Amino acid sequence: MKLILLGPPGAGKGTQAKRLEDRYGIVQISTGDMLRAEVAAGTPVGREAKAVMEAGQLVSDDILVRMLASRLSQPDAANGFILDGFPRTVPQAQALDQMLAQKGLQLDAVVELKVDDAALTDRIAGRFTCRKCATGYHDTFKPTAVPGVCDACGSTEFFRRADDNRETVAARLDAYHRQTAPIIPHYARLGILRTVDGMADIDDVARQIDTVLSAVQA
Ligand code: AMP
Repeated sequence: MKLILLGPPGAGKGTQAKRLEDRYGIVQISTGDMLRAEVAAGTPVGREAKAVMEAGQLVSDDILVRMLASRLSQPDAANGFILDGFPRTVPQAQALDQMLAQKGLQLDAVVELKVDDAALTDRIAGRFTCRKCATGYHDTFKPTAVPGVCDACGSTEFFRRADDNRETVAARLDAYHRQTAPIIPHYARLGILRTVDGMADIDDVARQIDTVLSAVQA
């Protein structure tokens, strides 16, 4: 299964991608996670990306296309993948088409999570992640069962993303509407766009995705 999860920041792409990894035995490829790792490691790419990410803007297509091409050629992507955060611009979508065509591969579906802008700021501003196992939580919508302790691995260390604040969210939403949403008609034309209601709760969104993907596989 080769999928793109598409939607604005805070739509739940990362959460749903993790579930799909388990369900289909395919890897989540999150370009945001890859860039954060570059920033943390202080690589040249990380140094270039850091300020752009903190401003809520998009890192250059050049960097992203190179990064994704090298990731897709790793053996664990051969089984299938879930792209989370890529493509985010029309040139990235075109580059992906070419990459897949060269490998003789085709996307099975592009799943769009539709969420009202008004809900996104609250969703993003309360997010935090376990430093050890990367399970995601939210102060209001998905707190840990025991305060300060990860439900999944028991770790007590968490982090909040530098760009998950109210000021940066506005810029990230603007980038989504201006630069990313224009790729949606491309996938609609290819007949592989499937839209689900991302306003529903996490389990319900997962069920909707299962339903559309079962139809794709049938
Ligand atoms: P995310 O974790 O997907 O929300 O991405 C966090 C930030 O990384 C974004 O706000 C962008 O600055 C950058 N980023 C991630 N993926 C891309 C991409 N495909 N194109 C450009 N910038 C990206």
